[in-house]
Amino acid sequence: MLEVRQLRAGYGAINVLWDISLGFPQGELTAIVGPNGAGKTTLFRALMGLIPHQGEIRLDGRALKARTWDLLEAGLVMVPEGRMVFKDMSVEENLSLGAYPRRCRNARARNLERVYDLFPRLKERHRQLAGSLSGGEAQMVAMGRGMMSEPRILLIDEPSLGLAPVIVKEVFSIIRRLKSEGVTIALIEQNTHIALSVADHVHLMRSGKLLLSQKAEKVDLERLHDLYLARE
Ligand code: ATP
Repeated sequence: MLEVRQLRAGYGAINVLWDISLGFPQGELTAIVGPNGAGKTTLFRALMGLIPHQGEIRLDGRALKARTWDLLEAGLVMVPEGRMVFKDMSVEENLSLGAYPRRCRNARARNLERVYDLFPRLKERHRQLAGSLSGGEAQMVAMGRGMMSEPRILLIDEPSLGLAPVIVKEVFSIIRRLKSEGVTIALIEQNTHIALSVADHVHLMRSGKLLLSQKAEKVDLERLHDLYLARE
């Protein structure tokens, strides 16, 4: 299980996260919802060691070093907001970039097969330049690249962003499948309905703080939306 305790992080002199404590139970899907600017992406950046933080990040009770490379080797993998695929590289080259962690370099071919099994459309388009893919296909490349790193915990930031509803459905059916295969998932999602449809646990973040943490089945949607929309 991944846990953070009293996490503070921000950018230079500006603090964004204020003493965030939460856990991401193994094999479960934890959703972080909240309005723009709440600090959700900043939380993921801190978890991946991309920005400095105070407080603790623990995996199975052990404190993790805050270096991105060590975190990646420990199995934390992020699928970033905006997909961030390399446009001038092919689909397969983009996927191969995910095979860099030492622990899974030798399993590149096997993992590629697994990704193509999850995303048959990427197999059909493996030579196509990523810059010419649709938004949904680019999201699949970003998720497939994450899977190439054999994540223990996959952090997925706003996979639905800018996608048509029918494509969002497809992306979320793949997220469900990843979960059913045992991947622990942390998901940032602005659409609370979609988040609740896949999540085991939901945390609402606003202004860098957690305002609500509940099991998804127990969430009171009205209260969630009131807190989501409340004025400062
Ligand atoms: P969104 O849903 O819009 O992505 P978010 O909840 O993910 O929102 P963050 O992206 O974490 O929010 O941003 C939290 C705060 O940190 C915002 O006030 C934002 O302006 C600020 N911020 C984000 N990135 C930087 C940066 N690189 N430098 C300075 N401030 C930043």
